[in-house]
Amino acid sequence: MTSEETDFLFADHEDEASPSVELQEFWDVLVVDDDPEIHSVTKLALSGVTFWNKGIRFHDAFSGKDAIDILSKPNQICVVLLDVVMETDDAGLDVVKRVREELKNRFIRIILRTGQPGFAPEENVIREFDINDYKTKTELTRSKLVTSLMTAIRSYEQLKQLDSHSAALSSILEASKAILGHTDTQAFGSAVINQLANILSVEPKGIMCGMVGDEKRIVVYGGSAEYQQFVGAGLEQLDNGRIILQMQNAFDCLCHQQTEHEVTFILKTKSRAAAIYLELEHAPDLAQLQFAELFLTNVSVGLDNIRLFNRLRDVAYKDTLTKLPNRSNFIELIEKEYAADKNEYVFVIIDIAQFSDINNGLGQEVGNLLLLAVLERLKTEFPKARLLSRIGADVFALLLPNDTFNESWLLDSLMIPYAVGEHVLTVHFHVGICEQQDFHKVGLETLKQAYIALNQAKIGKTSVGRYSVDLEEKMAWRLGIIRQLRQDFEHQKLEVWYQPQLDLDSMDIIGCEALLRWPSGQGNYISPAVFVPMAEDSGLIVDIGQWVLEQACQQQLTLAAQGHDISVAVNVSVPQFKVPNYAKTVKGTIDRYGVAPSKIELEVTESVVMDDISVVIDTLNELKQFGVEVAIDDFGTGFSSLSYLQKLPLARLKIDRAFIKDIPDNDSGAIASLVISLGKSLGLKTIAEGVETRQQAELLKSLGCDEVQGFLYAKPMAQNELLAFLKAHKAAH
Ligand code: C2E
Ligand code: MG
Ligand code: MG
Repeated sequence: MTSEETDFLFADHEDEASPSVELQEFWDVLVVDDDPEIHSVTKLALSGVTFWNKGIRFHDAFSGKDAIDILSKPNQICVVLLDVVMETDDAGLDVVKRVREELKNRFIRIILRTGQPGFAPEENVIREFDINDYKTKTELTRSKLVTSLMTAIRSYEQLKQLDSHSAALSSILEASKAILGHTDTQAFGSAVINQLANILSVEPKGIMCGMVGDEKRIVVYGGSAEYQQFVGAGLEQLDNGRIILQMQNAFDCLCHQQTEHEVTFILKTKSRAAAIYLELEHAPDLAQLQFAELFLTNVSVGLDNIRLFNRLRDVAYKDTLTKLPNRSNFIELIEKEYAADKNEYVFVIIDIAQFSDINNGLGQEVGNLLLLAVLERLKTEFPKARLLSRIGADVFALLLPNDTFNESWLLDSLMIPYAVGEHVLTVHFHVGICEQQDFHKVGLETLKQAYIALNQAKIGKTSVGRYSVDLEEKMAWRLGIIRQLRQDFEHQKLEVWYQPQLDLDSMDIIGCEALLRWPSGQGNYISPAVFVPMAEDSGLIVDIGQWVLEQACQQQLTLAAQGHDISVAVNVSVPQFKVPNYAKTVKGTIDRYGVAPSKIELEVTESVVMDDISVVIDTLNELKQFGVEVAIDDFGTGFSSLSYLQKLPLARLKIDRAFIKDIPDNDSGAIASLVISLGKSLGLKTIAEGVETRQQAELLKSLGCDEVQGFLYAKPMAQNELLAFLKAHKAAH
C-alpha cells in the first residue's frame, strides 16, 4: 500500500492514530543450547543490534524439550538459534521435526549450530524441515551472526506476509460470497460485520448504517447481536455516543475513521453512502486494513444489489403512496405473525366508505391526501398497532392488542373529520373485525375472514362486522346463490312480471310495475326481496337492471300495439346509478326501442337518492328533460330525504306498503295521509302500493290519493297474462 492509499484510508486522523500496523517492538529470538556459555556469548555478540528499527529479545532454552515447551505456547518467536547435540546427539534435529510437523509452525526460521562439523545434518533434512542456515559454532562471529539473523528475519517477514495475504484473499473471497447472497439489508449488514471482523481478526461487534431519504437520515441497516434491536432505527437511537459520533463524522467527511478502540469504514455506493462501525480489541495491521478495503468494494457492490433488489421488491411489496406493506406483503407478514403468537391481537380491516365518490368528486389528489390522513390518524391513535398495511385502494389492515381493544374507540377515532387540503371531510368507514385468529395459519385465509366480516358490515350497512364461523357459512351460502343467479341470468332463466297500477278515481289501468322473478323450479320463485340485495352487492344488478329495462321497453311496445298504451315502471338500484353515464344509457335504450320516454317510469328508493345526492339530482334532471318520469319508491320508511324532495325532479311518491297494510284496524292511515298531503303540496302524484282491501282503497280515496297498486286489483303476472288482464279489464269498464 502506498502512503497515499494509506492517507486516503485514514484521512484527517493521522494524529489520532497513525496508520498502524501492529508492530512488534522486538524480534523474538530463541536460543537453544545446553551450554549456558553459548547463550551469553550469543547475546553479547548481538547486543545493540537492531533490524528495521527493532531490537532483539532473547528467549532461552537449555534442552530440546525446553525448546518445544516454549514454542508450544503462544509466542512471537521468529528465529531459533538451535544447537544440534543436546540431551541426545540429534535433539536439535528432533526439535526441528516437531516444530514443523507437530506444531505446524511453517514460519519460524531455524539456524542450526553445532560444535562438531561431523554432526551437520544431511542436505535433504535441511530442505525437508526448512532449515534456514547451518553454522558451526566457531563461525558465529558477530558479523556472521548478524547477516545470518537478518536473512532469517527478512525471510520470516516475507513468509508471514505472503501467508496473511493469501489467507486474507481467500477469506475476502469467502466473505464476499457470504454477503452477496443476501437480499435484505439487515441480514446483509450482519454478514458484513461478521466477515469484516474476521478479516481484521477481531470480535464481530458493530453495526452498518446507511443514509436514507432526502433528509439524509442515518439509519441502522444491520449489526451484531447487541445491535439487532436498533435495526431500522435512526442512528440517534443508539445508546452509544461513540458510535453516533464516529458514524456522523464518517458520513460528514466521507472518509474512514479510526481510533484505538474502533474503526468506521465509509462506503460510497452508486446510490448513496453507507458506513460500517466495528469495535477493535487491538489495532489491525496495515495489510488487514488493506484487505478490509478490498472486501468493502465488494460490500458496496452487494449493497447496490440489495438496493436494486429492494426497489424491485418494494414495487411488488410496498404501497407507493403510503409506503405501507401492500396486500401480498401483508399476507406474508401475517403468516409470520401467527407463527409467532396467537390471539394477542385483534385483526382489523378498515374500508373507507364511498372512497370512489371522493376520488371522483374531489379529485384523486384529495383522495390520496385522505388516505394519508387516515393513515396518520391510525398511527397517532393506535401507536401499538402492528402490521399496518394498505391491502386495497381504500382498505387498511392492522393488528391491535387484544387486551386494550375497544371497538367504539376505534370508530370514534376514525369518525373525527379529516382536514384534507382545503376540505374538511367527514368520512364513514366499514370495519371488519376478526378476533378468533387461530383458525387458519394461512395469511390468505385470515385475510378472507376479515373480508367476510367487512362485507357483513357493508351489506348490513353498519360500521362493524365481526367474523364468525356462522357468518362464513352464511357468506358461502350467499356466494352460492349469487353464482347461481349469475348463471341463470346468463341462461336467460329470469323473468319479468308486471303488476298493474290504477287511477283511483277512474279505475283505469294507467301503468304497470316491472318486477323480477327468479324461477326455482316447479312453478316456485325466489323472491326478489331475497335475491335483489345480493345482486346489488355483487354488482350483478347492473346487467340485470339493464335487461329489465329492455324487457320493459319491449313490453310497453307490445302493449301499445294492442291498444294499451300504458306506462311501465322499472325499479332501479344504487349500483346502477353509480355506473357513469347512467342517464345516457337509459336514454339510449329507450331510443333504441323507440318507446315514448314518458311511458317509462323509474322507481328509485330513498337509499338511491341519499347515496350521492348531487350526482343523483343531475342524473334525474337529465332523465326528466328526456321525458322519463321518476317515482320515489317505498316512500316514508325513513323521512330522511324530506329536505331534498323539493330539489328532486320527481313525478310520484309511492307510499310504502308498511303504511297501508294495517289500515284500518291497527293504523288510522295517518302516515299515508301525511304523505298524500306532502305530495299535494309539492305538486307530486301519490300512488299507494300493497292495497289489499276495499277499506284501504276507500280510505286512500278519501285522503285524496291518486293511484293504487295491490293484490286487491291484481297480483304481479307474467307478460302475456297481463295482456289478457288488460283486455278483460277494458271490457269490464
Ligand atoms: P317494490 O318495488 O316495492 O315492489 C313492490 C313489491 O310489493 C313487489 O314485491 C310486489 O309483488 C309486492 N306487492 C304488490 N302489491 C302487494 C300487495 O297487495 N300485498 C303484498 N303483500 N305485496 C304486494 P316483489 O315483486 O317481491 O318485489 C320485491 C322488491 O324487489 C321490490 O319492491 C323491488 O324493490 C325489488 N325488485 C323487484 N324487481 C326489481 C328489479 O327489476 N330491479 C330492482 N332493482 N329491484 C327489483
Ligand atoms: Mg318498486
Ligand atoms: Mg315499494
